[in-house]
Amino acid sequence: MEFSISPQMQKTLADIQQFMEREVYPLEAEVAANGYRASLPKLKAARQKVKDRGLWCPQIAKEYGGMGLDLMEHGMVSSVLGRSLLGHYVFNCQAPDAGNMEILIEHGTPEQKKAFLEPLLRGDIRSCFAMTEPEHAGSNPTWMSTTAVKDGDDYVINGHKWFASSADGATFAVTMAVTNPEAPPHQRASQILVPTNTPGFKIVKNLSVMGHVGEDHASHAEVRFENCRVPQKNLLGQEGEGFAIAQERLGAGRIHHCMRWLGLCERAYDLMCKRAAERELAPGKPLGTRQIVQAWIAESRAEINAARLMVLEAAWKIQQLGQRNAREEISCIKFYVAGVLLNVLDRAIQTHGGMGLTTETPLAAFWAAERGARIYDGPDEVHKMVVARQALKKYGVQVST
Ligand SMILES: Cc1cc2nc3c(=O)[nH]c(=O)nc-3n(C[C@H](O)[C@H](O)[C@H](O)COP(=O)(O)OP(=O)(O)OC[C@H]3O[C@@H](n4cnc5c(N)ncnc54)[C@H](O)[C@@H]3O)c2cc1C
Repeated sequence: MEFSISPQMQKTLADIQQFMEREVYPLEAEVAANGYRASLPKLKAARQKVKDRGLWCPQIAKEYGGMGLDLMEHGMVSSVLGRSLLGHYVFNCQAPDAGNMEILIEHGTPEQKKAFLEPLLRGDIRSCFAMTEPEHAGSNPTWMSTTAVKDGDDYVINGHKWFASSADGATFAVTMAVTNPEAPPHQRASQILVPTNTPGFKIVKNLSVMGHVGEDHASHAEVRFENCRVPQKNLLGQEGEGFAIAQERLGAGRIHHCMRWLGLCERAYDLMCKRAAERELAPGKPLGTRQIVQAWIAESRAEINAARLMVLEAAWKIQQLGQRNAREEISCIKFYVAGVLLNVLDRAIQTHGGMGLTTETPLAAFWAAERGARIYDGPDEVHKMVVARQALKKYGVQVST
């Protein structure tokens, strides 16, 4: 395994770190005070500066206007961008758009690429991914009620979705709908590109997540499709490939998320150490002189370092052997790094006392935004089952889903 960083990459990471400190961190207070939508002019100005510096869409191939980084390189960039909840958006590699870009590059027709991918890559529009339904367990993604029925040249979509992240203000929704109810479970659904201005596409509301309704890119919507009619040419890939395409986006997506979480961990760790050094319990007795605080710092350092190596190993394995052969590693990092993130955030908040719960630091926002890390893209329990299933198979035990 080769984890060394080339001099060129080191320079890129240093440039991005500097950009984050100068241009992105200062926007956090602006967004916290005024909301995402009111801050869009400033966020867009920062995005233009990223483009001007040649750092736009780090994960996208050069022929599509990105930096052309491979998975491991983008993982390293992701851990720098992840230090702020705004980082990925400012560099146009935010979920769910990044995943939608990937699947459009892989499966989009020339017409779909022109209409949906190109403006997404330019950062002119945003998108969302609508799969989970309130009426069914999202942890079993083959189980859904949304249907797309052929009628003339169109599909007519009916269904109910929720947790469609960033649907508020999105131009299109990559929508999972059952196109062949008689097929085996993994071949029943397809992915269809639905412009959000199509009659019958309705955002019911932005869900309040951990007390935050959010808006624009930073939101999660409940959506209804009511006789929503789109042309059949909006089918992505082949009919029945919806589940397979969804799986494709998840492998690399989990590396991106995990490295992003490690960025949050590093920022929380810095804040924790700073507070431990500066906050005095009594004159000349900073918090950091207490052994329990030292233990929080040491345990956090060890967990972050271990997690980083695990994620890089998983990325390396995906690059070398393909996603199918890295399932165990991908599932391991998904639950392990989510746990490390929440441990480190909790310790950093505890170190700050009451202040840790306020907006005086970004820690409370990190917690509210990322408690979901143990749930989205597959809850911990499902990933643990995948890992245990692989292990137990060797001992003759079949673990069913
Ligand atoms: C912040 C956030 C953003 C999201 N963004 C999107 C999005 O953009 N698009 C989208 O379509 N969806 C999105 N989701 C939905 C997400 O994918 C689902 O929440 C997730 O798949 C879990 O489904 P569920 O919420 O229905 O929980 P359920 O499936 O009802 O599971 C509930 C709990 O049961 C336990 N559990 C589940 N399966 C097992 C098992 N096999 N063994 C033991 N225990 C188990 C787990 O603890 C789980 O948390 C998002 C969710 C969150 C929180």
